[in-house]
Amino acid sequence: MIQKPKGTYDVYGSKGKNIIYLENLLKALMEKYNYNYVRTPIFESSDLFHRGVGETSDIVSKETYDFKDRGNRNITLRPEGTAGIVRSFIENKMYAEANTPTKNWYYGPMYRYERPQSGRFREFYQFGVEALGSNNPMLDAEIISIPVTFYKLLGLKGIKVNINSLGDIESRLNYKKALLDYFKPYINDLCEDCKIRYEKNPLRILDCKLDNKLEIMINAPKIIDYLNEESKKHFEEVKKYLDILDIDYVVNPNVVRGLDYYTNTVFEVEASIEGFGSQNVLCAGGRYNGLVETLDGPSTPAVGFALGFERLLNALEAEKIVLEEESLDIYIIPMSDEEKTYSYKLCHDLRMSGFNTDIDYMSRNIKSNFKQADRLNPKFVIIIGDEETKTDVLTIKNNLTKEEYKVKTEELVNFFDDLLDE
Ligand code: ATP
Ligand code: MG
Repeated sequence: MIQKPKGTYDVYGSKGKNIIYLENLLKALMEKYNYNYVRTPIFESSDLFHRGVGETSDIVSKETYDFKDRGNRNITLRPEGTAGIVRSFIENKMYAEANTPTKNWYYGPMYRYERPQSGRFREFYQFGVEALGSNNPMLDAEIISIPVTFYKLLGLKGIKVNINSLGDIESRLNYKKALLDYFKPYINDLCEDCKIRYEKNPLRILDCKLDNKLEIMINAPKIIDYLNEESKKHFEEVKKYLDILDIDYVVNPNVVRGLDYYTNTVFEVEASIEGFGSQNVLCAGGRYNGLVETLDGPSTPAVGFALGFERLLNALEAEKIVLEEESLDIYIIPMSDEEKTYSYKLCHDLRMSGFNTDIDYMSRNIKSNFKQADRLNPKFVIIIGDEETKTDVLTIKNNLTKEEYKVKTEELVNFFDDLLDE
């Protein structure tokens, strides 16, 4: 038997319903915020991620799915959404449009060659947004407010928003120098990965999952103290707008994010739910004012975030949140084979009139059809017998109250419209 590849999963049954529910909620939310749906290829040229995400990031140095296609091109399955969107922004000259900022959202699978565990897959789904063309801190706060609002709408309670600022390029460079000086005498106390990070990307030492309990980490210099005036002001403004939106947050100096392209605001939303496990970052993002230029576009400030679906489903489960399911309105039971055609046509007509309708396909006897109705849990059941096909007067049963109604076929749509509205 052929099995699915390691680190992937199938969606079926109630999980499928839950995912569709979440997708629809996000789509509706994106309309409220006036973001536009964009879709970019799942594979891109490898260079895009090497330059866009950064050679020293974990994603590019350890996690990408790289291959050569039959034309000998270096191709990578996208590990994240931002680089592709920025490529598309540049290639399609979206920057030349007058309606700035360009507010985009995306949803789809991402690929990272990681060690699979709870909340960590090799194929996983992200929803994300990218707003390009403005440095306004109102936009940073808007971006943070999107996942927070979404989680609130779902009823998630154990949500903690961590924010930080990495400052602009100048502040970041000063801070990097301070970190290098600080860690120099302790280099042998750090884990093997952090020794490499010291050489390549010292900021990443701060979010090391192994070393973060060490005394030297706790006492390390904080980026906040190295922000120049402009960066400090920008961060203050972001916090002000978060306050205006009534969003609770904690300033956490150890949030530095894994990707090389971040400047100024960075944030993570964490699940602080008892027993949730260590993969508890539900979504993350920040400002990346340098990325468009790095990928050969015109200098363009931008801010965005990405949210993982798998961890979201875990969080909903941990808080025992049951999503409201779209349920069946009507189940049609033909009494015998004689009524099949009539019932089949009726089923189609009801679907076309807007009702969620299904019919027995297994020629069950009446008793097991009622059992099936219990499993499907429709709001109404219609039983079609000889009498019904002749008179066009149907017996409708309310599956909850067991009340019965006699309704003429031509009045059926109005009848259901009225009752289902209640
Ligand atoms: P982590 O520190 O957990 O590895 P990350 O910094 O690699 O996360 P991002 O690249 O910022 O994560 O991705 C944003 C979100 O996407 C994460 O907060 C998480 O919800 C989700 N995510 C990232 N990697 C995976 C994965 N391998 N499987 C499932 N979800 C993931
Ligand atoms: Mg990761």
